[in-house]
Amino acid sequence: MSSTKVVVVGAGPVGSLAALYAAQRGFDVEIYELRNDLRDPTTVPLNFTKSINLALSVRGITAMQQAEPNSAEGERKLLDHVLAATIPMRGRMIHGKKVTGELYEEGQDYDVHGRTIFAVDRGGLNKRLLDVLESMPNVKFFFNHKLTGADFRKRKAWFEQRTGSAPQEIEVDFDLMVGADGAHSSVRYQMMKFTRVDYEQSYIDTLWCEFQIQAKAQYDLAQPMSRFRISPNHLHIWPGKEFMYIAIPSEDGTFTCTLFAPGDKYAYLESNPANVPSFFDHYFPGVTDLIPAEELIASFNRNPHLPLISIKCKPHHYSSSVVLLGDAAHAMVPFYGQGMNAGLEDVRTLFTFLDRFPASEWGHALDEYTAYRVPDAHSINDLALQNYTEMRASVLSPTYRLRKFLEES
Ligand code: FAD
Repeated sequence: MSSTKVVVVGAGPVGSLAALYAAQRGFDVEIYELRNDLRDPTTVPLNFTKSINLALSVRGITAMQQAEPNSAEGERKLLDHVLAATIPMRGRMIHGKKVTGELYEEGQDYDVHGRTIFAVDRGGLNKRLLDVLESMPNVKFFFNHKLTGADFRKRKAWFEQRTGSAPQEIEVDFDLMVGADGAHSSVRYQMMKFTRVDYEQSYIDTLWCEFQIQAKAQYDLAQPMSRFRISPNHLHIWPGKEFMYIAIPSEDGTFTCTLFAPGDKYAYLESNPANVPSFFDHYFPGVTDLIPAEELIASFNRNPHLPLISIKCKPHHYSSSVVLLGDAAHAMVPFYGQGMNAGLEDVRTLFTFLDRFPASEWGHALDEYTAYRVPDAHSINDLALQNYTEMRASVLSPTYRLRKFLEES
């Protein structure tokens, strides 16, 4: 067993995968997580929402696949388990109303060869990674530990331990710290005291709130897919031009839906939530057939109205002692469905560089990693912003449809 110690801050999907890659290489791995263990049913989920359904794509899948390099074909336990709980989405389903008043749906496949992305429950994916880590002898978890300080020259960090009646500070040594502590990263904040970090943060004028389409109460048991009220194999979009509503399928026959709209639209609805159903009827025709008006209002009142942040920074590391991954390095708006996928890809990419050098020369590996990864991270961030226009408006334009038709014929 190596004596190299890797401390991962943040046990979200990205930190957990990074811990797995490090543990598989024989390093001593410690994971410090602000919140309680996600697998404990009393834990308040991230963003205070019941679940976030995400689109998992080939970036994320490849990164998980490569976390199992020694597994024989057919024994890919992590990936098999994660993929078993997903639903393939072959394309978008655009919902609208014709001038005649008739509702329509239009499928737009993502790929001419039928390749799909997958709807996955973020919590479920995260829990599976934690289960795998738990079985590894060289991994230790420290839940309810908040990073409060770090000295990246002396390779020491301080955590507030929130397990007892009064919080206590503990000191932790490390060889490499992986900062996977999300958009409001403390690791990033501490790292900025040691190196000149170019940092760009913006909030877009869009809030999001979660809703649900329930499964059918009665359906043909021999045909489980008949539980879904709309096609389970699509990412559904109600484009509102300036804003939009989307629905992503869940394994239990429900859909997790999200209203993305500017602050003034939210303020209008917050001032009188009784207007929510008529707002939906006007901009997102057909939704009130799927979610009763009183449920729409209740979800709008109950679920938080959350902002969307976009962050770019450079470098992603300091010396050989710390590196930022996932949202800590490049939080992006969700419209390209790539935030978590790109974070998982960070892990795979980082280890291709670390694997080329002995631990004593990781400074070179991290220099090369930043040089390679930052331009890609910035690009996906920009693409994510651009894709909002595509999803909420361009999918409706005749030019877009003509271009798609020509591409596919
Ligand atoms: P996080 O999931 O934020 O995890 C960070 C962890 O660090 C948390 O557990 C936190 O408690 C912990 N932490 C924070 N501070 C500290 C501290 N001081 N000390 C210790 N621990 C700390 N991505 C996709 O790929 N596809 C999608 O379809 C998609 N859809 C999205 C839809 C919405 C509405 C939103 C908001 C995001 C979406 N994303 C999507 C983005 C995705 O959710 C994030 O990119 C992903 O969760 C980032 O993972 P992470 O592990 O880097 O950070």
